[in-house]
Amino acid sequence: MIVLVPTMGCLHEGHLSLIRRARKLAGAQGKVIVTIFVNKTQFGPGEDFGNYPRTLKRDMALCRELGSDVVFAPSDKAIYTAGHSTFVVESRLAKRMEGASRLTHFRGVTTVMAKLFNLVQPDAAVFGAKDWQQAAVIRQMTGDLNFPVRIVLAPTVRESDGLAMSSRNNHLCAAEREQATVLHAAIRAARAAVKNAPAPLPAGMLRRKLTRLIDKQRLAKLDYIEFFDPTTLEPAKRVSRGTHMALAVFLGKTRLIDNGRL
Ligand code: AMP
Repeated sequence: MIVLVPTMGCLHEGHLSLIRRARKLAGAQGKVIVTIFVNKTQFGPGEDFGNYPRTLKRDMALCRELGSDVVFAPSDKAIYTAGHSTFVVESRLAKRMEGASRLTHFRGVTTVMAKLFNLVQPDAAVFGAKDWQQAAVIRQMTGDLNFPVRIVLAPTVRESDGLAMSSRNNHLCAAEREQATVLHAAIRAARAAVKNAPAPLPAGMLRRKLTRLIDKQRLAKLDYIEFFDPTTLEPAKRVSRGTHMALAVFLGKTRLIDNGRL
């Protein structure tokens, strides 16, 4: 069994948890293949492709330590050969949230994933719940295009103060890092509101309440908060236990995302 763990590198505990999960899935006889590729087509103009953290040597050592069998770290040119002109587009789940804020983002994600599935031919691929919409879009593409690949989702790994681990946390200055806990605080506040409410809460009302919470952090600028069905990603007008929430917040120039079940 071949298990793929696709990453953009600058590995942290979140990535490492996926590699451990892959190792377990593959078993002693199977192969774990970690890809490290900062995929330029999923970055928009003016986004952080150029200064995305790249720490390949350290990443390779971590992969070895965790018992991955192969690290595939191709060059840009190897993946996008000169004159590349074919893209893979998921046209429903990819429209809202991250897709609305970053217009060509998911087109880049599904294109590179289709390429990696073809190149590696894995039986399974492990993704983090941290990027909930991304996992849903990839799962949809995998089914729609008949890739014989099982999509496995692993839980979000967090710092001790609740901040979801992310390579982009490296870009935060000390003050931004402190205020970045507001993403998880907003999810927890929503969870508490839902738990204490006698009936489903109107999404607009809950969004306004959480927006006020985020606005209190001077360095935080809200991009979006959405409530939705965890499987179909259909927006929820009323929010109750089991509704999923996702949000994106800028801390200075760094854009962070998080999500959770309420
Ligand atoms: P990235 O390198 O950011 O493209 O992420 C590669 C994979 O790691 C994706 O499947 C992410 O969802 C997953 N991942 C990133 N951060 C975390 C985290 N904090 N916990 C669990 N998985 C994560």
